[in-house]
Amino acid sequence: MSSNQEQSPAAVAAAVASCRLRKQQRRRLAAFDFDHTIVSQNTDTVVRDLLPTEVTSAKVNELVENDCWTEYMAEVFRLLHEQQVSEARIRDTIRGIPEVPGFVRLIKHLAKRLHYDLIIISDSNSVFIDEWLRAHNLADCFVAIFTNPAEFDASGRLMVRAHHQQSDCKLSASNLCKGRVLEHFVIEQDLRRSIRYDHVFYVGDGNNDICPVLRQRACDFACARKGFAMEKHLLRNRSKLKLRAQLLIWKSGFDLMDQMLALPQLKTPQVQGDGDQPDQDADTDGKVPEVARRASAVAGPTKSPN
Ligand SMILES: [Mg+2]
Ligand SMILES: [Zn+2]
Repeated sequence: MSSNQEQSPAAVAAAVASCRLRKQQRRRLAAFDFDHTIVSQNTDTVVRDLLPTEVTSAKVNELVENDCWTEYMAEVFRLLHEQQVSEARIRDTIRGIPEVPGFVRLIKHLAKRLHYDLIIISDSNSVFIDEWLRAHNLADCFVAIFTNPAEFDASGRLMVRAHHQQSDCKLSASNLCKGRVLEHFVIEQDLRRSIRYDHVFYVGDGNNDICPVLRQRACDFACARKGFAMEKHLLRNRSKLKLRAQLLIWKSGFDLMDQMLALPQLKTPQVQGDGDQPDQDADTDGKVPEVARRASAVAGPTKSPN
């Protein structure tokens, strides 16, 4: 018997644990809202405004009073189809929405240079988001996009469905609780891919971005757009809300990049997976804003960052 006792149960457990540790990746995640965060307008209202002003329906007016935005937009898309507004015109309109200054550069920098995992959680829809991301060469920067699924049917009418149905979270609309989506994503990444996030950034502007940041940990960052509803709500109710995450207030993608690169918590490079390069931008000594400035200087035609 004694000859078979080369490994005690404790030693086996330690070996298993160290094997798990080796396989586990520690990364950083940035989750983005879409409307008024990445793009400078609301995709739904921009497309709704393609309707001739005299076209209204009792149903639209009734639905706008209700909670469910996807039902409202489904009616808007039905009217657009009735008015023969084409798929091509809708796609053109989406492509023409400008970015919030600096966000194309920010997204590319986080995904390609700093090797963050990026996701979008948005109450827009999959057709609008895919169209805009493709037009700006950003589609491959995101590991997942959570939104209301949509498609043009054979007759050219845009059909949209709710992302999910929920009634547990009173902070969120029935068709999308962004907090639940973010939590599920983080848990799934751990269970399925052994990816753990040392820091999670959540970047948004609106009231529906409050729920996810209230679920963040103390090592995470709630990034709220200056002057918009999310920032106002968080500041007004600061003591009541018990936000654990560190709050970053941003004005543009350039400004947010500067703030992120200056965070002392991020000076240590991430533990990289296979083929990843070390974090080269975060370890410079006091030259961090210069990196962002350089990045913004080649950002192409954008509006002024102010
Ligand atoms: Mg928004
Ligand atoms: Zn929620």
